[in-house]
Amino acid sequence: MLQKILIANRGEIALRITRACKALGIKTVGVYSDADKDLMHLRFVDEAVCIGAGASSESYLNIPALISAAEVTGADAIHPGYGFLSENAEFAELVENSGFTFIGPRPEHIRLMGNKVSAILAMKKAGVPTVPGSTRAVTTHNALNEAKNIGFPLIVKAAAGGGGRGMRIVERVDMLLESVQAAQRDAEMWFGDDTVYMERFLQKPRHVEVQVLGDGMGRAIHLFDRDCSLQRRHQKVIEEAPAPDLPEQARADILQACVNACELMQYRGAGTFEFLFEDDQFFFIEMNTRVQVEHPVTECITGIDIIEQQIRIAAGLGLDITQDDIKICGHAIECRINAEDPKTFMPSPGTIKYFHAPGGAGIRFDSHIYSGYSIPPYYDSMIGKLIAHAKDRPTALARLRQALDETIIDGVKTNISLHRNVILCDADFNRQAMDIHYLEKNLLKRQEYAETSASA
Ligand code: ADP
Repeated sequence: MLQKILIANRGEIALRITRACKALGIKTVGVYSDADKDLMHLRFVDEAVCIGAGASSESYLNIPALISAAEVTGADAIHPGYGFLSENAEFAELVENSGFTFIGPRPEHIRLMGNKVSAILAMKKAGVPTVPGSTRAVTTHNALNEAKNIGFPLIVKAAAGGGGRGMRIVERVDMLLESVQAAQRDAEMWFGDDTVYMERFLQKPRHVEVQVLGDGMGRAIHLFDRDCSLQRRHQKVIEEAPAPDLPEQARADILQACVNACELMQYRGAGTFEFLFEDDQFFFIEMNTRVQVEHPVTECITGIDIIEQQIRIAAGLGLDITQDDIKICGHAIECRINAEDPKTFMPSPGTIKYFHAPGGAGIRFDSHIYSGYSIPPYYDSMIGKLIAHAKDRPTALARLRQALDETIIDGVKTNISLHRNVILCDADFNRQAMDIHYLEKNLLKRQEYAETSASA
């Protein structure tokens, strides 16, 4: 087994990984930026190393600083968490070439999936259904031809994309070339790579994803599915597992297709196949080669500790579970709690004057915040994840509403009111899963309406 793991991340996921290591009896090294001296997990790790200034580029993205921290502390492995360097193939390669274990997939798979055009090609080859679209990079030269095959509306996306950024919907042919150029500029700006591609813009899909674990030696299992359709600007707001109301055969087929693809690739570690689901069909959009923010809902319904599995697999111990061991128990729903203005969605960093954590049966709150903690302005505004697990979806929703009522975070603005008073009060959402446009087109509009009429 691994002896000492360096956690190359911050916030709630650093605390989550610390907990998993402790449960396995593995020593931990925390890293932090100048702006992050007060992070909660630093109180629990065995050693802590400052890796640079507040800006991520100088600390959590600072590869030499992270490798030296691993060297000086004698760590034997690095867990990248999510975000930051977690899907950076060069980092994974350097970690391995420096003699450390990278807790994640092989660099070649990170690279393959990091470019969505090559990911889509690989999936086609493996028999995973993809969105009808271009299977090569699109430029102003070939865009018209590609668009003829795809039809309108279509969506132009960055091959290196992530975080929902830089996508452009094109309604008509006269907007095509301009949109491709604009998307190329955005892609260069956000990702340093101007490669773009196009696919059919699905009108009312749901976002359904499949969690997998591969042992790196040709055996893989799935941990069922999640629905993450409630999104704002292509960013997930609420996630649940299992995905509600899926037709059983379509679901069984897609789970099997994901397992087959992993076995074919000899995929190592945890991964997520993301799909759009429309008219009872699945369409692959991308694969994330890391642990996801929303992994706790899967842990709740399967009882599997995904971080523990990542560590075991990285240590070469393989999978200690078989597909037959995994059964769905109940339903789990997660709300992402962000320090942001619930009306403008602008980040709201600052000091948490008072914090009270929710609790009770089936409630899990993955968060690093505490009374007196100052949220630095440099990083993502997510400060925690509130998860409710129960025997069925209505009961999980009821528990989640109660837990949101109990969550007190004074001193900074949060999106708790959006979750509690808008989404979880919505009769349609309570009844069934909704499509990816529902939050923005219906609920946020309704919220604006409520606010304007209240102030009128
Ligand atoms: P990113 O890597 O930036 O998160 P994804 O490809 O995973 O980008 O897509 C994120 C979200 O954008 C999806 O969950 C969906 O809401 C929307 N989206 C992406 N592709 C399409 C498409 N072809 N049609 C409709 N919506 C899409």
